[in-house]
Amino acid sequence: MNKKTIEDIDVKGKKVLVRCDFNVPLDVNDKTKITDDRRITEALPTIKYLMEHGAKVILCSHIGKTKDKQTLLPVAKRLSELLNREVPFAKDVVGEDAKSKAAALNDGDVMLLENVRIHEEEEANDPAFSKELASLAEIYVNDAFGTAHRAHASTAGVAAYLPAVCGYLIQKEIGIMGNALENPERPFVAILGGAKVSSKIGVIENLLEKVDAIIIGGGMAYTFAKAVGGKIGKSLCEDDKLDLAREILDKAKAKGVKMYFPEDSVCASDISENATTSIYNSKEIPDDLEGLDIGPKSIEQFKEVIKTAKTVIWNGPMGFSELTPFATGTIEVAKALAENTAATTIIGGGDSAAAVEKFGLSDKMTHVSTGGGASLEFIEGKVLPGIAALNDK
Ligand code: ADP
Ligand code: MG
Repeated sequence: MNKKTIEDIDVKGKKVLVRCDFNVPLDVNDKTKITDDRRITEALPTIKYLMEHGAKVILCSHIGKTKDKQTLLPVAKRLSELLNREVPFAKDVVGEDAKSKAAALNDGDVMLLENVRIHEEEEANDPAFSKELASLAEIYVNDAFGTAHRAHASTAGVAAYLPAVCGYLIQKEIGIMGNALENPERPFVAILGGAKVSSKIGVIENLLEKVDAIIIGGGMAYTFAKAVGGKIGKSLCEDDKLDLAREILDKAKAKGVKMYFPEDSVCASDISENATTSIYNSKEIPDDLEGLDIGPKSIEQFKEVIKTAKTVIWNGPMGFSELTPFATGTIEVAKALAENTAATTIIGGGDSAAAVEKFGLSDKMTHVSTGGGASLEFIEGKVLPGIAALNDK
C-alpha cells in the first residue's frame, strides 16, 4: 500500500482525530442497544496503538442516516467497556462541548464526538465544516473502511487540512483484498450472487480481467438463464439486462474465464419461512414458481470448483438466505470455503458478510470485510475517496 499509516508518523502528545466506522446496528425496539459490535472491536487496534503511543485520541463516526440524527452515546458506552476506562462523550461535533473535552485530554486519553451526521455539512463534504473539524486536532487518521467509498467531510474533506494517514483496519482491508486482486494465487475463483445483475455489473467486469472462474448464484443467475433461452417462471429477472448478460458470457469466453451457473434451483410460490419448496432445472422453472436458492446439484458442482481454488472472493448470497428454506445453498458454499484451508478466502458485501456471520463461519474465512458498499467498490476497481485523500508514503 502506498498510503502512510499510523506507524509512519509521530503521534506522541498530538491531538489525533480518528474517523472510525461505528455505524453499528441498533435494536429496532431499543436504540440504546447495540446488536453487533464488530465494527467497534475492529477499530480497537488503531485506537489502542494511538493511546499506547501517547496520542490524545478524538474519535468520530457517523451512525445511521443524516435524517435520523441518531446519537453515538451507545457506542461511547460500549467503547468504555471494551477499553476498560471511561470514554468521555461530547454532545456535539465541533461545538463547545467537543472543544472543551478535547482541550482536557492528556496524552494517552481517548474521547468520542457526537454523530458527525447531525450536521448536514458532513455528507455535503462542506469545506468550512471539514476545516472546523480539522481544527480540533493536529493529525487525521482514517480507519473507517465502511465509509471510505464516500467523499464526506469526516472521511475525505478533513484530510485537506491535516497530515492524513490510515489506521490498521483500512490497511488490513485494502491489503488483503488488494493483494488478492493484484497478485492472486491461482486458481482464482469469484463467487457472485445476490439479487441483481445491475448492482454487480462493475464487479463482474473488473473480475473478468482477473479471475480464472466465476460462479454465479442468487437471484441474478436467472437473468443469465433467461438470456440463454431458459424458462425461469417468476424468478427475479432484469429484462433490460439480458443483452448485457449475453455480452458478459461472450467476454468470459473470449478471455478464457470459466463461468458456472446453478444447474438446479430450489423453487417456491411464496417467500416465507414455511414455504413449500421443490427442485427444478434452473432453465425449466414452472410459470407460477420462483427460483430462490441454488439446488443440490449446483451445490455439488460449486463445491468441486471451490475445492481446487487457491483464492476466492465471494460477494452476494446464493439465495434468499434470510429464510431457512432458501439458506442451504449459501450455507453449503460458506462451508466449502471454510473447508478449503489452503485458499485465501475473502467475503465482501454487506449481506454476504451477515450471512457468513449468522452461520458462524466468519472465523473460518481469511477475511470478512467490514465494509459492504466499500468492499464492492474496491472489488470493482474503483478509487475510494477516503483512501485517495490520505498522504502518500
Ligand atoms: P451483498 O450485500 O452481499 O452485496 P446483495 O445485496 O447483492 O448482496 O444481495 C443480497 C440479497 O439478495 C438478499 O436480500 C437476498 O435475499 C437476495 N437474493 C439472493 N438470491 C435471491 C433469489 N434467488 N431471489 C430473490 N432474492 C434473492
Ligand atoms: Mg446488500
